[in-house]
Amino acid sequence: MNKILRASAAYRWIACPGSPYLEQDLPDSSSEAAQEGTRAHSWSEKILKDPAKIEYILDDCKREENKISGNGSEMIIHVRAYIEHIGDNYFTTMRETRSKNLTFIERKVAINKHIGGTLDYALITKWLNTEIHASLRDLKYGKGGVAAKENWQQIIYALGIDKELKKKVTHYEIGIFQPRGRGKTVKTWSITGKELRTYKKPLIDAQNKCLSILNQDIEPYYNVGSHCFFCKARKHNKCLAYIEIQQGKNREEIENLLD
Ligand code: SF4
Repeated sequence: MNKILRASAAYRWIACPGSPYLEQDLPDSSSEAAQEGTRAHSWSEKILKDPAKIEYILDDCKREENKISGNGSEMIIHVRAYIEHIGDNYFTTMRETRSKNLTFIERKVAINKHIGGTLDYALITKWLNTEIHASLRDLKYGKGGVAAKENWQQIIYALGIDKELKKKVTHYEIGIFQPRGRGKTVKTWSITGKELRTYKKPLIDAQNKCLSILNQDIEPYYNVGSHCFFCKARKHNKCLAYIEIQQGKNREEIENLLD
């Protein structure tokens, strides 16, 4: 079976090649906040696929969310804002290009058989019949700040769009929509396709390290840092012991780093 390295965890497996190896046998334990984010995505997906029913879907969203978390009113505000942002982006782009377009909604994309994930939304347009532009959007429902620039998850999706289209995108706009985060709600990063494709090599290098460990061709190795926060193997004895021995840190120091 192919080993899949998830785009959403790329920031972690790039920094710590041993993390997929340790995480693979650990059960998924989704936090309440993560489940709430999943539900926000699911309501947004329903609306994006059937925009004429937005008010009905938001009514359902509010009712269901009130039963689960009591936060229905808050969720419909943020979901509506995300949908309006996608709509504004769509109409502005279409006014400028007046060309045919393609939209991807909750679409699985991959850059090869090992690295992939599901992108939230992308609008792909042709400009002057020669250029292809892709505008990606990612809804982040959590409060922790997420940058658009050099966001590995989005870089993978962008490279996955190239593969899906069997054509090279000439220009990307990567966007994070984070209604509950600190700072700006929408952060964007514009980059040419040529520049973006330079990120493929470091991704493949990191993939090869992870696969060598997953296939047990080499001994696992780990690297502690801020990327540990959502790791399932956080505080796993094997990675703690490795860091203790290889990096000369004592348990207390390591645990402080992980807290
Ligand atoms: S907790 Fe940190 S060091 Fe340990 S496996 Fe996860 S990412 Fe690597």
